[in-house]
Amino acid sequence: MQNKNFDVIIIGGSYSGLSAGMSLGRSLRNVLIINEGKPCNRQTPHSHNFITHDGKTPKEIETLAKADVIQYKTVEFFEGRAEKIIRNEDHFEIEVSSGERFYAKKIILASGVKDIMPDIPGFAECWGISVLHCPYCHGYEVRNEVTGILADGDMAFEFSKLIFNMTKKLTLFTNGKTVLNTNQIQILKDHSINLNEEEIESIEHENGKIQKINFKNGNAVALKALYAKIPFEQNVEVSESLGCELTEYGFIKVDFMQKTSVPGVFACGDNVTMMRSVANAVAQGNLAGAMVNKELSEEEF
Ligand SMILES: Cc1cc2nc3c(=O)[nH]c(=O)nc-3n(C[C@H](O)[C@H](O)[C@H](O)COP(=O)(O)OP(=O)(O)OC[C@H]3O[C@@H](n4cnc5c(N)ncnc54)[C@H](O)[C@@H]3O)c2cc1C
Repeated sequence: MQNKNFDVIIIGGSYSGLSAGMSLGRSLRNVLIINEGKPCNRQTPHSHNFITHDGKTPKEIETLAKADVIQYKTVEFFEGRAEKIIRNEDHFEIEVSSGERFYAKKIILASGVKDIMPDIPGFAECWGISVLHCPYCHGYEVRNEVTGILADGDMAFEFSKLIFNMTKKLTLFTNGKTVLNTNQIQILKDHSINLNEEEIESIEHENGKIQKINFKNGNAVALKALYAKIPFEQNVEVSESLGCELTEYGFIKVDFMQKTSVPGVFACGDNVTMMRSVANAVAQGNLAGAMVNKELSEEEF
């Protein structure tokens, strides 16, 4: 790539990054989108709840989005990983996996997050297929089916209310003795939600479609779907390298204009919010692109 200097470098070229790229391309900004191409939903067969694209594969949506953005000649792409982000006095320097270095006045982190799979054989294979992170994305397809939730504590209790709306054939699996209080346990019981505290051995499945949960004590429970709340980590380390503040939950802290705590650094998409959806990532990317353009326009005027 001949050009090394850009107005803006976007790290992550999935839904949020491409959306930011479109705002900036249409604003005549020179943009480089660096993308490793590993969106968090890549294993899910169909993506739902994004109007005009409901039911398409994640790849189809990304391909259509990229085709839109590539039309804007000031936007360039680098396929690979941003390895290092260095903040200098008046610009940023990004080293990519090929060893090349690119420079920008502003950067947008649209790098998403990495879900950390629990150490349960079969779990990772079912992730996004029949082990689900969100009822809005996949709940309709398994409505009224025999369903489980793998979680514990207050978060599990709150999540149970949401899933109870989608099916009454519901069991909460806590994978060990629960930390729910007696009041919460009674409320679950009143709603005929089973509580299972047995320790999980494995998830049995066929091509990612869950068949049953096997327990260490030899028992097993048949299921059609399992919701799970699992931990995540940022795809890009930004607190030590750049000094970006994180929230108590591990998201990059941004204001209502998608600005991080570091001047010139914006962030959008899954890395800043627990409201994980394609629609939300696109909306935040759109806003981040516009706000970066506004800041550049003000500085240049
Ligand atoms: C299993 C699963 C199923 C889902 N299903 C749905 C659904 O049906 N409907 C829905 O609306 N939402 C769904 N979601 C949520 C949705 O996928 C996310 O909200 C959305 O992908 C977030 O977009 P993003 O651009 O912020 O991050 P991502 O889509 O995760 O993309 C981040 C991109 O940044 C790249 N990247 C990261 N670090 C670097 C780096 N250092 N250098 C270069 N590139 C980098 C990654 O490779 C990736 O391409 C699902 C999520 C999961 C986990």
